[in-house]
Amino acid sequence: MKQIILVAIALLCITCKETTVAQSSASSTTAADVGSIMNFLASDELNGRDTGSEGLEKAAKYIESAFKESGITPYFETYLDTFDAKGTETYNVVGYLKGTDPELSKEFVIVGAHFDHIGQGKDVNGDVIANGANDNAAGSTAVISLAKHFAKTKNNKRSVLFVLFGAEERGLLGSKHLAKVLKEKNLDLYTMVNFEMIGVPLNDKAYKAYITGFEASNMAKKINEYVGSELIGFLPKAKEFQLFRRSDNYPFYKEFGVPCQTISTFDFTNYDYYHHVDDEVSQMNFEFMAELINDCVPAITSILNTPTKEIKLN
Ligand SMILES: [Zn+2]
Repeated sequence: MKQIILVAIALLCITCKETTVAQSSASSTTAADVGSIMNFLASDELNGRDTGSEGLEKAAKYIESAFKESGITPYFETYLDTFDAKGTETYNVVGYLKGTDPELSKEFVIVGAHFDHIGQGKDVNGDVIANGANDNAAGSTAVISLAKHFAKTKNNKRSVLFVLFGAEERGLLGSKHLAKVLKEKNLDLYTMVNFEMIGVPLNDKAYKAYITGFEASNMAKKINEYVGSELIGFLPKAKEFQLFRRSDNYPFYKEFGVPCQTISTFDFTNYDYYHHVDDEVSQMNFEFMAELINDCVPAITSILNTPTKEIKLN
């Protein structure tokens, strides 16, 4: 009898695993999907997506319609979470996917990236548009792609906020604003995964991406456990340059005191066009980006579905 039960359970696990894998592969992101988002967000038409610019507005509209089409609803009254960036009105774009579990849906996970950039850069052969392909149309593409994936699979017991932050380049102003607002609302934030500059692969590393604040929590260890491979590693330079404090994860870490960290593949040696007019789509590796985004799916799926909050600060 016990044996029959064991076989039944095993079969059940295989089927639900097959279903989850089938769901995941059915909605995995392709290089072409990545390309279509990147070619718009980092186009000359958006003029470097500076805070307060028409280009940023076009980017926000594009993200709103991507959310609407895939069934991601606004968290606030609209998708736009408006705030003042030192005299310029701007916004975060905030999408919401309610969790499927009556209890766990009260807990939130934030998947984020900033979508603004600096607008103009130093003139190079008459080109003054800082397209911001790697910084950070690449991270924005990861958030939009993951939003589409989970909206399709609905494989999330916990609730998720997909956030594209504004005014990061002006001092993390969008994330500072939203972290305060959500703290005042007493949001039960479990953890935050932020994406920054994931457009090109790391050189000669045993892992595919690094995480900032590696030593602050067990997030890297847990992600690798969930994925079943060494996806995430430690980059000494990230610690040396205190990248943990330099992106939109930090204000949430400060406000909520929970693990909030950034995934990146920029290692100061593999990309010459940081805040440069040549930070163009043509420099990006869409295949690699799609691979990394798909690799993150089982990690984020586990983060959204484990019965307890396994990721903790050290
Ligand atoms: Zn950036």
